[in-house]
Amino acid sequence: MPSPVKPATGRLAIVGIGPGRREHMTARALKVIAGSEYVIGNDSYLDPLQPVLAGKTVIRSSMGKEVERAKQAIDLARTHAVAIVSGGDAGVYGMASIVLEVLEHSGTELDVEVIPGVTAANAAASVVGSPLSGDFAVISLSDLLTPLEEIERRLDAVFSIGIPVVLYNPKSRGRPHNFAIAIEHARRYLSCDTPLAIVKNALRDDGEEVIITTLGDVKRHEDAVDMHTTVIIGGSESRIWRMGEHVKGIITPRGYHRKYVY
Ligand code: SAH
Repeated sequence: MPSPVKPATGRLAIVGIGPGRREHMTARALKVIAGSEYVIGNDSYLDPLQPVLAGKTVIRSSMGKEVERAKQAIDLARTHAVAIVSGGDAGVYGMASIVLEVLEHSGTELDVEVIPGVTAANAAASVVGSPLSGDFAVISLSDLLTPLEEIERRLDAVFSIGIPVVLYNPKSRGRPHNFAIAIEHARRYLSCDTPLAIVKNALRDDGEEVIITTLGDVKRHEDAVDMHTTVIIGGSESRIWRMGEHVKGIITPRGYHRKYVY
């Protein structure tokens, strides 16, 4: 039973804080966090925010406690200015949906704002050139909330149409095999020389790593893939981008070559 609607004087901001460095946050995200009395989030997301957290009540929570965190944020936001922070974009495998679902279920009327952030797909793409220039798909390999069979069906669907595919949550200790499974699905539809980028800690101060390889060769780099990594598998039109002798990244042409000479 939803609880009755309560009058609310606070506000709730669900803030995407981007991939890591503060300079990749939006001005709106920074402003709203600066104007909050409570800031709620995971340690790893709160650390880069330290300089703007002075004087605020900071509530650190851990992975797997998202529902509790959402309830707590909503309770506090009845009477206080609350920011709940989420890495990347809060609406992409982030906190936005669970907060809005819990809010809807509670029947509470609140001033709510979802603030967008640079998601991992954009962050990872930016460090390897322009692999996502046209249509592309995004799939999470985490089977915590989605059954693996469903993920495999989605992988087949997107690989079969030859567009670039971005893999979030490619591997973790709890699910070490999902990445290899996804590569197997890709190989059913795409050639071995399809370019592939493994991007770890994109746009973060520590630990940024980039590997440009191919679908045929990726097995050699499987150990580099972990939960801090985003993997971009090119589409049928993607190619390796070179500058002189150096492999710089991946370009997926948008199609200008069909219309113009350059
Ligand atoms: N809401 C986040 C995604 C959370 S899911 C967003 O919009 O980016 C967590 C997954 O995101 C990680 O397993 C990894 O695949 C990806 N990710 C998040 N930040 C990243 C970064 N800085 N570099 C590479 N991958 C990242």
